[in-house]
Amino acid sequence: MNEADARPVPTGAPGVYCYPESFERLVADLRTGIAALAADEPFGRLAVPPVIARRTLEQAGYIASFPQLLGTVHSYAGTPKEWAALAPLAGEGGPWHQRQEITDLVLLPAACYPVYASLAGRELAEPVRYAVEAGCFRQERTTETGRLRSFRMAELVTAGTEEHCLDWRERWLDRMADWLTGCSLKPAVEVADDPFFGAGAKLYQAAQRRQQLKYELRVELEDGLVQAVASANVHKDHFGEAFGFTAAGATGQTACAAFGLERIALALLHAHGPDPRQWPAAVRDAITGGRPR
Ligand code: ATP
Ligand code: ZN
Ligand code: MG
Repeated sequence: MNEADARPVPTGAPGVYCYPESFERLVADLRTGIAALAADEPFGRLAVPPVIARRTLEQAGYIASFPQLLGTVHSYAGTPKEWAALAPLAGEGGPWHQRQEITDLVLLPAACYPVYASLAGRELAEPVRYAVEAGCFRQERTTETGRLRSFRMAELVTAGTEEHCLDWRERWLDRMADWLTGCSLKPAVEVADDPFFGAGAKLYQAAQRRQQLKYELRVELEDGLVQAVASANVHKDHFGEAFGFTAAGATGQTACAAFGLERIALALLHAHGPDPRQWPAAVRDAITGGRPR
């Protein structure tokens, strides 16, 4: 493998890549930069696994809104005797999975869900803050550069009052834009919506935009291909309702700032070339916020 080329290596499964060491060093630098941005706020750290209880996403309303993106975990639920008949099918690429049944787990589609679920039943005297990172899965329908099915998302998450969440999101939107600008990525900051599925989709998307719940920071990943590398979101009392937590006597509100680690890395590789060691020192310092790598 060419050590000077940090670009992801295709696996044959669309939207699933392997990552060379030099790409991973860049991802590590992004983590350092995000930690530097977050240094003046008391974020607790939570390592988040790539699966989550199916019930949690049902409660969160994810299934109702994004059934097309969700990856479910199924496993074999038959007898050894039934398996004896199915096993030979695997070698032929046949339907060996006839007896797979859905389990209590699904693949995590965004890093912040476990945080909201962990607040169930609490009255938040102070705003809660967590920094999380997780491998995420989404069954995306297209396979352009940066639209992965398996990807890593770093998130800063907060919960508290409405006023806190709105202020916090505004501050983080500015911080994210400044950081990306410092990395010479020229982000466009835009009101956005989520890919709701089915009958009410257009209405939900219009409401989401009208209330400015979601902002995206959009950057070029390839000539003529612009994608969101990060988003800054408020959810009003959606998760407070779903999981039953309160702040200042009212239903708790939440906000998150999400960084797509592969997308930011791809945008940097597009802007500055395939070998990060050749990038200008000013860019490399901006990525880590001046911290040593
Ligand atoms: P898009 O608009 O590109 O579909 P999204 O609005 O669904 O993305 P969010 O739910 O806000 O994305 O997720 C936070 C961040 O995670 C995004 O800004 C992006 O950087 C990253 N991300 C989301 N989906 C993918 C994906 N399929 N592949 C790689 N990164 C992704
Ligand atoms: Zn989030
Ligand atoms: Mg989007």
